[in-house]
Amino acid sequence: MKSILRQSPLGLLRRPACQKLRPTASADSSVWRPSRDIQYNLVRGVASSWSPRQQEYPEEKRWAPLPTRKAINRLSVIQTTAPRYVTVDIEGEQVAFDNIFLRDACRCHMCVDPSTQQKLIQTSDINYDTKPKFQTALPDGTLVIKWDIGPGVDGQHISTYSFDFLRTQANLRWRLRSNFNDRRQVLWDKRLMEQDVLWIDYQTYMESDEMLLEAVRHLSIYGLVFLRKVPENSRQNSVEGIAKRIGNIKETFYGRTWDVKNVKDAKNIAYTPLNLGLHMDLLYFESPPGLQFLHCIRNTVTGGSSIFADAFRAAQTVRMTSEPLFKALCDFPVTFHYKNDGHHYHYSRPTVVLEKNTYLRQPRIDHMNWSPPFQAPIEVDTNGKDNRAFRSWLHAIRNLGTSIEDPESQFELKLNEGECVIFNNRRVVHGRREFDPESGDRWLKGTYVDVDAFLSKFRTLSERFKGGVDNQDYL
Ligand SMILES: [Zn+2]
Repeated sequence: MKSILRQSPLGLLRRPACQKLRPTASADSSVWRPSRDIQYNLVRGVASSWSPRQQEYPEEKRWAPLPTRKAINRLSVIQTTAPRYVTVDIEGEQVAFDNIFLRDACRCHMCVDPSTQQKLIQTSDINYDTKPKFQTALPDGTLVIKWDIGPGVDGQHISTYSFDFLRTQANLRWRLRSNFNDRRQVLWDKRLMEQDVLWIDYQTYMESDEMLLEAVRHLSIYGLVFLRKVPENSRQNSVEGIAKRIGNIKETFYGRTWDVKNVKDAKNIAYTPLNLGLHMDLLYFESPPGLQFLHCIRNTVTGGSSIFADAFRAAQTVRMTSEPLFKALCDFPVTFHYKNDGHHYHYSRPTVVLEKNTYLRQPRIDHMNWSPPFQAPIEVDTNGKDNRAFRSWLHAIRNLGTSIEDPESQFELKLNEGECVIFNNRRVVHGRREFDPESGDRWLKGTYVDVDAFLSKFRTLSERFKGGVDNQDYL
């Protein structure tokens, strides 16, 4: 693995892997072409050359290229007879906005508090028949509307909408992009992760916000990133500092941070020297942690390497093989629990959860729930009305499990002292090979951060360094 990495001035060790998903210069810029075929081997013999851009999201082409920002913002109001809408032409594209959507989106000081940025009007208070009395487009692309709201409400209200706002509201993809919710995923197996694995030096991660963005962006795309050269003197506290660069720590009954060491009569399989199968943590919580951090403080044992696999890719394999089985993964509720040592946590959820708000015919996977060691007995009526669904789900998880357990899916490495892994706990399953406890010490220190804090950091840093939604590459 080390031989394919290279050093850059900022201490970032990687192959320039993201290059291959950038569009190549071509006469037809509306077609997005990976610069070389990626052999995903997703379904052997069926799809030998498969890329998430080409096959997972077929509508991508329809929306590309994204409308580019012109020097002059061309906006004009189109007079129509539809009383509920304001229709505008945005650089050649006609968009009809519902009157109430626009009235509700007014950002004037009476509608949104300039200091707190909180709304001062309630959507439910807007008159159902609200319509413009007057509407015009200014030369800079601003839309001005004087509202005819009717008696009793703010009858003379004037709203203005910037060109950028109207443009980002023109279709669902742009609305999602404007909130950084149209994030690219690269589904990986062992081979792809060995090429694309990202190592960042602890010091640059801690000091450079640009490098922090590189880390959270990689986490957004792949769900896995590694830090190295975590210094000796601060070792025992460093995982906390690493996590807090991204967001507040999510404290659980395991504590603010926790130690993975083998102990006698362990209450969790993690604290034994046994092989620990691929799983996600804390699925018995209503809101399981989004990011997990594991810092290796000591690792002198024989064995005990760490394993990671992309559960999204495994589920996508099932999806490409059989839609009904994939649907079973999305529908059938699985119960997880932790009932031990004075705690009783309990929660049911389907194996796969898709993105809900999407313009894609085949929605992306939002997150997954895979944790066989923490499953409770199935709670639905398996001996009655739910038996068929149960059997269908069993078939589906057998396929999913086979794909996750496939050695070709798994990225395995032995974490060395001073290295730290960060991964998306709702996407990447993790596990550990068994080790010989007599052969030395093994000590990892871990902590969690919520997915909300991670996405907040991703959005704010992307806005700051990548120039917001006009940068096609940032997501
Ligand atoms: Zn207003």
